[in-house]
Formats: sequence, C-alpha cells, structure tokens
Amino acid sequence: MEYRFCPLCCGKISYQVPRGDQRQRAVCQDCHFVHYQNPNVVVGAVVLWQSQYLLCRRAIEPRRGYWTFPAGYLECEESTEAGAMREAWEEAQVKLKIEGLLAVYNLAHLSQVQVLYLASMQSPGFGAGEESLEVQLFDWEQIPWHDLAFPSAHFALRHAHEMQQNPELGPDLRSADLKLDHNLW
Ligand code: ZN
Repeated sequence: MEYRFCPLCCGKISYQVPRGDQRQRAVCQDCHFVHYQNPNVVVGAVVLWQSQYLLCRRAIEPRRGYWTFPAGYLECEESTEAGAMREAWEEAQVKLKIEGLLAVYNLAHLSQVQVLYLASMQSPGFGAGEESLEVQLFDWEQIPWHDLAFPSAHFALRHAHEMQQNPELGPDLRSADLKLDHNLW
C-alpha cells in the first residue's frame, strides 16, 4: 500500500530513504512524519474440546465457505493471547483456555506473521459468530482437509495433532512461505 497524503496532516507524501535508514519510507513533506509500514500480526488458536477440533466455516472473504480455526488480526494495545481469545469469542462464541504456543509462521511474501496457540474450551458450548457461517467440532479423521481456507490451517492442525501425541514437541516455527503442495488440497 502506498500513501499519497499524510494520514496526520494531509500533506503530500514523498518516498525517500531517511538518514541512517536502509529503505524508502513515506515521509510527509509538511509535518515530516515518517510513516513506517510494518508487517501485520495474525493471532489465532487451534481449539480442542476433548479430542475434537473446533473449526469455523468462513462467512467473509477471503475464502468464504471454507473452514479454519478462529484467527484474525491482532489489535493495537492487545496481547497475542488476548487477541486469540477475542477472535475465538467473535467467530465461535467460545471462551478459551490457552494451553501453550503452537506455531509462529512467517509469511514474508504477505508481510504477515502468525502467532498461533493451542487452546481448549472452558465449556462445551459454541456458536457461529458474525464472521462464521457455521461452527463445528470435528474428530481428527473428519477434518475437511480439502475445504480448509489457508495453507497455515493445514500445518497448524497437523502440528496440534502431533503435539497431542508428543507433549515434548515444541512449537512449529516455519520461515518458509507456507505455500502448499497442491496434492495436499
Ligand atoms: Zn504530515
């Protein structure tokens, strides 16, 4: 995204490398504010109830109609745990108990970092929030692999499953661009 006008004073923006910097930045020609653009942080949780996995069918683009676990953009002044809990409430009306860090995925090609937790539900109730068409618990064998919304959903669900079987396993830390082999879809 390129700025044309300063979001602070509506002055004209020019792209230049500030002294001591390495990259071009959006610099306001009037107030001289440097508008840094940094990656987005997505937070979410693979949620378990007993040994079932909670998935939401997306009511919004991108990937409307496809399944994923509750996740979304971290808000300002919010911790990653609080963000994952908020998204689970908004999308699936569940209150989470965060069990631990599941994965940190670097999607450098999208300027996005995903911080994902393993979590359980505090009680058995759930429902479809505004951004979900439906919410459902799936046995591992029932997970709709061919209708998952994002490659990271595959990796995170598989890693959560492996962590269930091997509690010593650490979080999944991938720096690859998480492009999926098409035969996995
Ligand atoms: Zn300005």
